[in-house]
Amino acid sequence: MVCDHTAPHSGVSRYERTTAELRLTLVCDNCGAEQGEFARIEYRPNARRFSAQLAELTARQLGLDESQVARVRFAMLICDVGREKIPPRSSTSAAAE
Ligand SMILES: [Zn+2]
Repeated sequence: MVCDHTAPHSGVSRYERTTAELRLTLVCDNCGAEQGEFARIEYRPNARRFSAQLAELTARQLGLDESQVARVRFAMLICDVGREKIPPRSSTSAAAE
């Protein structure tokens, strides 16, 4: 059965990995079909904090001493400093190569 999209609609945000954007859209509650787009917002998830914690845990599991653990954590925190200054299309196309 084809939906006529007369059911209520809800606002949904969808992350577009290829363009590094959050798309704010309107979808039909009956079938889930996208019926419109309100806005696009540049957005890239920032997992740096969690990555640093994982790097620290990994360093501890490897038996590194405290100064080495601190260096690993610091390196993970700063590994992509400046990334926000790179236009989204440049970084996504570079990652695809
Ligand atoms: Zn529908």
